Amino acid sequence: MNARAGRLEIRDLVKRYGADGAAAVDGIDLTVDSGEFLTLLGPSGSGKTTTLNMIAGFVQPSAGSIHLNGVDLTELQPHKRGFGMVFQNYALFPHMTVFDNVAYPLRQRKLDKAGIRRLVLDILGRFGMAGMEHRRPAQLSGGQQQRVALARALVFSPSVLLLDEPLGALDRKLRQSLQAELKKLHQDVGLTFVFVTHDQDEAMFLSDRIAVFNEGRIDRVGRPAELYDDPGTLFVANFLGEANTFAGRSVDAQTYAWNGEKWRTTTGARPDEAVLVVRPERVRVFGPDEVPAGWNSVGAVVTDVSRLGPSSRIDLALPDGTTGAAVLPSTDAVRVRVGDDVRAAWDVPSQAFVVERAA
Ligand code: ADP
Ligand code: MG
Repeated sequence: MNARAGRLEIRDLVKRYGADGAAAVDGIDLTVDSGEFLTLLGPSGSGKTTTLNMIAGFVQPSAGSIHLNGVDLTELQPHKRGFGMVFQNYALFPHMTVFDNVAYPLRQRKLDKAGIRRLVLDILGRFGMAGMEHRRPAQLSGGQQQRVALARALVFSPSVLLLDEPLGALDRKLRQSLQAELKKLHQDVGLTFVFVTHDQDEAMFLSDRIAVFNEGRIDRVGRPAELYDDPGTLFVANFLGEANTFAGRSVDAQTYAWNGEKWRTTTGARPDEAVLVVRPERVRVFGPDEVPAGWNSVGAVVTDVSRLGPSSRIDLALPDGTTGAAVLPSTDAVRVRVGDDVRAAWDVPSQAFVVERAA
């Protein structure tokens, strides 16, 4: 961990725009530990950018507080917070060279010329941009521009780096390689990162913890695997990957009932208003009489088989008129045909979970 890395404490943060009083951010509590990579994940309009801008100081909260290492920042000007920022649209100064873009925050902080030169060339080298300091942003690729933006955000040794969909404008391949660079960068510098994305895979790949945003609130916060395997709410279950959902009811701590089926669960008794969720990759497809003992299963008709590479996706029509899906190793999927009457099954105990219906 880096000694400089900041710890953020966000309490009851609210932002209302305009007189009608609708809250864009509606009471957020969040602690970001020193050196943590925390991602704000959620659909468009759920309040991620507004939250990040309140942390940065660009947007004044309607209520609530933000503390950095115990110090109240809520009223502090953005440039006094000492945070680095990177945005989706690069936001480099187009008329300035790469060198001057990266030097900008150092000149604002009135460092001497030799010191600025050393720091700028150092960080450009580290981002693989050595020799490009005289170019202008228009003479760089999207990935290079984003590296310059990162260099500019980090050159003054901020305590926290705030990133708002920084890879959103890049094509898939480049995005993936920059994701790997960003992860490595975080490990190297040990700074606190608060990262915004609407892309669940990106969030799962990068983050120590994810805060899932839903209509201006945080639905849940947790480590990626934790949220994926025990999402707690239907919203999180659906947002973090694909989910087969069965809206039946919990009979007791060990039994869930749906459409005439009774399944064993070990998730414990929850309120009647509960949905059973099974991830497609947990589902296996059997002939009507082949389901292994102790597995839960449901009758289904195969409506589509598509090969995705090493895995294949089986789309299913369920008896209540809803649909489901299984993702199998392609070697297992070869015997499955469209139109087959099958049992879609999952192993008990740990391969399904019950979530709250109201998200
Ligand atoms: P996200 O980044 O998750 O897509 P935003 O924080 O940008 O979401 O927006 C959250 C909500 O606040 C949206 O309904 C958006 O329309 C509204 N909003 C954002 N900025 C403003 C603004 N400057 N004035 C009025 N409404 C805004
Ligand atoms: Mg946004």
